[in-house]
Amino acid sequence: MLRGEKTFITFGDEADYAIVIAVTGSSAREATAFLVDRAMGWTSRPIDTMGSWHTPASLTFDDVRVPAGNVLGAVGEGFALAMRWILRGRYVIPSQAVGTAERCLEMAIAHANTRVTFGRPIGERQAIQWMIADSEVELEAARWLALRCAWAVDQGHPARHPAAVAKLYGAGMVNRVVDRTLQIFGGMGYTRELPIEGWYRAVRVLRVLEGTDEMQRMIISRDLLRGYERIGGHLA
Ligand SMILES: Cc1cc2nc3c(=O)[nH]c(=O)nc-3n(C[C@H](O)[C@H](O)[C@H](O)COP(=O)(O)OP(=O)(O)OC[C@H]3O[C@@H](n4cnc5c(N)ncnc54)[C@H](O)[C@@H]3O)c2cc1C
Repeated sequence: MLRGEKTFITFGDEADYAIVIAVTGSSAREATAFLVDRAMGWTSRPIDTMGSWHTPASLTFDDVRVPAGNVLGAVGEGFALAMRWILRGRYVIPSQAVGTAERCLEMAIAHANTRVTFGRPIGERQAIQWMIADSEVELEAARWLALRCAWAVDQGHPARHPAAVAKLYGAGMVNRVVDRTLQIFGGMGYTRELPIEGWYRAVRVLRVLEGTDEMQRMIISRDLLRGYERIGGHLA
């Protein structure tokens, strides 16, 4: 019997089933994963947010009966399974950030080459060139961090540390790149005629979900301070 509420589940209002990690022992870590069809009785309520990505809902389980056959893995294994799935999100987020930033930079360059003010394309002005250069450097750095993490996962190496580094940097990077792109587009960037303002609102959540910036910093520093990671060891 499942009882409780989970606030913030991406696409929870559209889902036909949910993977629920519920406490089944005396501590929070003694948890079990269940596959629970909506038809078993859970309900959802959409949550309105500032962006259009990862549209969340709140899920309520009011004494929902789940048959033993719907346990995923073994009873008590839920926490370990959740950690494995959360890790996946941590390297998907920086990849999403890289894709968005690539599109933004493409648009920024095209606009800088065609928008003429005071007789010259704005791309000939150093102020605009520097924004483009900074975006390229940060984008390239985030791309390599995401690839490095994907490689670790492919090889079956522990990926918590590179995932935290890539997630923290990638989420911050895309927020800065979208902001510069909006700046390069000037007033048009702020309008709803272009997708930039929507991305500006949407990418903000990447610094919050799948572990906030602060949580990634905690993981990274703890790994180093406790010696779980050698400095530079994750490059080997
Ligand atoms: C659009 C959206 C979709 C989401 N989708 C999902 C989903 O599908 N599944 C899911 O499980 N969750 C989902 N979430 C939840 C998301 O993962 C959490 O919002 C996030 O982890 C932060 O938790 P919180 O909101 O409880 O903030 P809090 O934990 O209340 O944190 C508030 C602030 O305090 C900081 N903080 C908290 N504790 C510490 C500490 N010990 N040291 C330093 N700083 C600290 C945080 O970093 C943050 O800045 C979603 C959220 C959003 C907005």
